[in-house]
Amino acid sequence: TERLKAGLSKTRDKLGKSLAGLFGGGKIDEDLYEELETVLLTADMGVPATMHLLKDVRERVTLRGLKDASELKQALKDSLTELIAPLQIPLDTSGHQPCVIMLAGVNGAGKTTSIGKLAKYFQSQGKSVLLAAGDTFRAAAREQLMAWGERNNVTVIAQQGGDSAAVCYDAIQAAVARKIDIVLADTAGRLPTQLHLMEEIRKVKRVIDKALPGAPHEVILVLDANIGQNALTQVKAFDDALGLTGLILTKLDGTAKGGVIAAIAREHPVPLRFIGVGEGLDDLRPFLARDYIDALFD
Ligand code: GDP
Repeated sequence: TERLKAGLSKTRDKLGKSLAGLFGGGKIDEDLYEELETVLLTADMGVPATMHLLKDVRERVTLRGLKDASELKQALKDSLTELIAPLQIPLDTSGHQPCVIMLAGVNGAGKTTSIGKLAKYFQSQGKSVLLAAGDTFRAAAREQLMAWGERNNVTVIAQQGGDSAAVCYDAIQAAVARKIDIVLADTAGRLPTQLHLMEEIRKVKRVIDKALPGAPHEVILVLDANIGQNALTQVKAFDDALGLTGLILTKLDGTAKGGVIAAIAREHPVPLRFIGVGEGLDDLRPFLARDYIDALFD
């Protein structure tokens, strides 16, 4: 929890300080609710989640007969936890061998870095991992993955200049032949507005299914928390194109926009499998709603 707190220090600082002001003292009145609204919106929770939270907090205040502003904190923590708890569905890879996990996202979101962290995570559970260097646009991404695989004794399937679907196809065949537990498939970064590239990633998914019927078993969108409310646009667009089964929210350590999780929960819920709270290999953690809220508030 201390590491999580440190990772969330920016969101904590901003949200925590504003909230401390609110919870400082005095009566619960309309002015207080108005200030609370501003604080929630500033933390990038968006209008629908903010409205929902205000209504929910008011109900708790009435139900519990709360009068003092200091009592509002627990009511808000409870409302927030309840709102984001449905996103807490841990990734379960046990039903498939190999379990094929495909990652998508815009450039710089943290896909390649997250793949390294995920590989470590699965290895620490005793699982074998194979990487598909499916980002064939950026030579650097392929090299980054290959160097990483070499250092960590993980097989990386790559092709110079090949296309992403072919790399993934080869990787899955290799994984089946070697009885690998987990395949992590990288893809090139793309914007939802680049329609030809969105079509291309749909093709990658179809080819993966051809290589192993039913795969990919997990389609993850990697999101940079710094983009705040734009995260929602990306979740919607990538979900439309690919049918997302999970999200990874990276760089929560560098931003005060951690509230975007509430917006996703309210407006377009997709299981939040992991959160990134730093550049270290251990800084990708399964998302736990209560720990997250505790780290923000306490
Ligand atoms: P890609 O283009 O999506 O593959 O993005 P990369 O994996 O290359 O990551 C882009 C940058 O973000 C790199 O400098 C990473 O070290 C950094 N990064 C990724 N995840 C995190 C995180 O959780 N916290 C921090 N601070 N940096 C991160």
